[in-house]
Amino acid sequence: MGKKVFVLAELREGVLRNVSFEAIAAGKQLADGGEIIALLMGESVQSYTQELIAYGADRVITIESDQLKHYTSDGYSQCLLTAIEKEQPDVLIMGHTALGKDLSPKIANRLNVGLISDITAIENIDNQWTFIRPIYSGKAFERKKMVGDFIFVTIRPNNIEAIEKDDTRTGAVAAIDVEVKDLAMTIKEVIRKASEGVDLAEAKVVVAGGRGVKSADGFKPLQELADVLGGAVGASRGACDADYCDYSLQIGQTGKVVTPDLYIACGISGAIQHLAGMSNSKVIVAINKDPEANIFQVADYGIVGDLFEVVPLLTEEFRKI
Ligand code: FAD
Repeated sequence: MGKKVFVLAELREGVLRNVSFEAIAAGKQLADGGEIIALLMGESVQSYTQELIAYGADRVITIESDQLKHYTSDGYSQCLLTAIEKEQPDVLIMGHTALGKDLSPKIANRLNVGLISDITAIENIDNQWTFIRPIYSGKAFERKKMVGDFIFVTIRPNNIEAIEKDDTRTGAVAAIDVEVKDLAMTIKEVIRKASEGVDLAEAKVVVAGGRGVKSADGFKPLQELADVLGGAVGASRGACDADYCDYSLQIGQTGKVVTPDLYIACGISGAIQHLAGMSNSKVIVAINKDPEANIFQVADYGIVGDLFEVVPLLTEEFRKI
């Protein structure tokens, strides 16, 4: 029998995050012909509902409140729990994003259910859903099954492919009224850095710099290459610690985890803590002047050379395409 699948859609800076569409695709697998319901919360969200339907949602439930303008775990959990109580889904999926990492344990606790976090793939083995997730900083993968009937997972961005968008799809949209109250914390304002471009966690191409870039100015050729490829710039902790760039760019065990289609590591030695954040990238290109650098162990393509010569050459060539 088909399952009722709840997907938490995520809005950021007025744009639906791709992981919302990837979660819908994951939901399609688990629904077994059942219904995919996307839940969308925020201050004013009606204009985003059709996009969720185009990506495969059968129904969209909206909850609007000025208290939901910015994410708070209190506000979001009140709304999500209300919607779950009303709809009684069999499956709940959210992105393994900053929001999902914060919200999912709280929801699992309130529902008294298990949670399998950070999944990268779904398999059906002997008629049981099995979830694959990286462990030991990406050095191994484990397969997990839920105990009990309720399935609750968070999915790592950029791993499960979204369904092709179909603007002709139709679906129902309904609002639920929730009085968001007794918030322990409210957010007055979010001040973002002006330089933020493509979202690093969701970028299809990441050009990352390490201590080998030698200065903040050394990141400029990397930014140019990222711009030409429509990607984002990331960094090793070595580069962040040396004050060449902001910690928001750090990739690794104590930074962001990324899984782009293409990861270009420039002047990064490949410490295990860095690999933890990028080794699952689909194609890895390493540029390093030390042929013995550890990064070449995980690279699909290695270029032994000076990044200040190689990166501008790549930019020039990609510009021609
Ligand atoms: P280095 O190791 O100094 O490497 C620089 C590389 O640049 C060298 O391989 C060199 O050959 C190359 N190079 C120099 N000049 C050029 C040039 N002109 N052209 C080409 N190549 C050049 N690190 C992370 O990245 N992310 C994390 O999340 C993280 N978390 C950590 C958590 C803990 C608890 C600890 C202890 C460490 C963590 N680290 C993390 C730090 C990690 O161990 C390394 O110190 C760090 O990744 C090194 O950064 P790097 O590769 O930029 O620098």
